[in-house]
Amino acid sequence: MRVSSACAAAMLLASGGWLAASAQVHAQIRIQDHVVAGADAAMRGFQESDFPRVHRLAENLYVAEDLAGPIDGNTAFTTNAMFVVTSDGVVVLDAFKDVASTTKLVNIIKGLTTQPIRYVVIGADHPDHIAGNQAFITAFPNVVFITHPNARINDATRARVGLYVADNYTLTLGGVNMEIKFLGRAHTASDLVVYLPQSKILWASETFFNGLYPSPGGSRSAYPIEWLQVLHKLDKLGATLILPNHGFIDSPKVLMAVWEQWIALFESLISQGTALHNRGTALDAAAYSINIGRYQYWYRAANNLHTMLLRIYAELDGTAGPYVVTARTPAVAMSGAALPPAVNRP
Ligand SMILES: [Zn+2]
Repeated sequence: MRVSSACAAAMLLASGGWLAASAQVHAQIRIQDHVVAGADAAMRGFQESDFPRVHRLAENLYVAEDLAGPIDGNTAFTTNAMFVVTSDGVVVLDAFKDVASTTKLVNIIKGLTTQPIRYVVIGADHPDHIAGNQAFITAFPNVVFITHPNARINDATRARVGLYVADNYTLTLGGVNMEIKFLGRAHTASDLVVYLPQSKILWASETFFNGLYPSPGGSRSAYPIEWLQVLHKLDKLGATLILPNHGFIDSPKVLMAVWEQWIALFESLISQGTALHNRGTALDAAAYSINIGRYQYWYRAANNLHTMLLRIYAELDGTAGPYVVTARTPAVAMSGAALPPAVNRP
């Protein structure tokens, strides 16, 4: 979908997104009281040409949805990217699967603001979120990436990393505070989330999917038992809106209801998986012994259940392994280091 500055605003209106009206997020978000419809874009009646599309959460906060795979395939769910527009530049939280789709994201942002993209936070290091990062570099050669020291990123991106966050770092730009946090291994060994305390919005990155069954990723890098511990920590932050990296950006009411279901899903899966493991049930048999209840209706449950169990078994067996730090990964995380000076200007 080609996005120009002229059509970006119209797209906002047409997308069913939330329109801003005042400075307070709570007042700005128009609640849409629809039921959870799952993550399958085809089931919701979308076409490939409907993406990417943008939701405005507040005056300066947006989420863009892209389609992960072909509409007629079994990966027709959305991949999401958040961006924060400030008076001193734009911060992008996660990105899309390739240069073409990430270029569309860049053009959406250019259509909404003259501010440059200064920082990109890599909360999820799987290819469906970073393989297009060259688009940021092409458009804004001095863009600075922020990531976790364990993140698996290519050399071009690594050369532009200005900050590794191993625990906490608060980035303040144009008066907007963004608390970048690593709360433990979850979907990967390097998940970063971003909490905006002024609006109580949490970008949960790949620790949260809406209506899409949890996955350990194609590289099976997840740690489901630790992931649940991370979810409990996120739950205590006090966010009033928690945003998923995959699955539709539904209304806050729906997303917060799904968040509760998401935690319950993990608790059920892990308790049943642990019981089966402790009884000596073979992995293949265990996948047929789980009662996944209402979560059987979540998109890709049949695809992802087995590999989630595989990783639960690995954690219980002590074979999930520490993340293998590559030679290029700095030995000392530079958490808390000063950010480099801003050099991008429109
Ligand atoms: Zn992903």
